[in-house]
Amino acid sequence: MATRIYDCLTKIAETIIENKDLLTELDREIGDADHGVNMARGFQAVLEKVPQDNEDIGAVLKKTGMTLLSTVGGASGPLYGTAYMEAGKVAAGKTALTPEDLGNMLAAAIAGIQKRGKAVAGEKTMLDALMPALEQYNAAVAGGADIHAGLEAACAAAREGVEFTKTIRATKGRASYLGDRSIGHQDPGATSATLTLETIRDFLA
Ligand code: ADP
Ligand code: MG
Repeated sequence: MATRIYDCLTKIAETIIENKDLLTELDREIGDADHGVNMARGFQAVLEKVPQDNEDIGAVLKKTGMTLLSTVGGASGPLYGTAYMEAGKVAAGKTALTPEDLGNMLAAAIAGIQKRGKAVAGEKTMLDALMPALEQYNAAVAGGADIHAGLEAACAAAREGVEFTKTIRATKGRASYLGDRSIGHQDPGATSATLTLETIRDFLA
């Protein structure tokens, strides 16, 4: 029987694969029309390469990150790869997660993305979904929320972050080549990041 972490990764893979065309179309508008294709290929590989029976959440996420790093390509491959690997370091040896653990994992993932991609908030990237999500997650958990309620708050913030990316100019990644013409378009990476958080929320419901 597959572990819960493998089942959760399966759900994330299904979501990414179901939204392949949406993500690719968003990337067609401000990039090179490969985000959905890249991510779907990566998560297909994750389902094949990640062990189904390893209970160690950290080890499984580390393998997930390494697989994404070597299969997704583009800018988002190294960024998502690093995010999962850094989250995995926080979860090393754990077979269950507290609300604080999950917050620490999301924080580590964001720090990894920033170290690798050198972006900050407001540059029209995945960080514009993930950073407000972490802030609202932490606020909810500090107020006594459990993981699921924390993720409800995180996902609402991430969706607002996606909307916010429509209003700003890209200054990192391929979309930055468009300058002001990137305004009005929703960021593909912020969208895939939000879909990921929503899938984790639904998985834990
Ligand atoms: P590429 O742009 O190389 O074709 P993808 O299309 O797979 O790669 O991914 C594009 C997404 O990557 C963008 O929508 C954005 O969210 C994210 N991205 C690009 N550069 C950065 C960066 N420096 N930091 C964070 N996210 C970034
Ligand atoms: Mg692209």
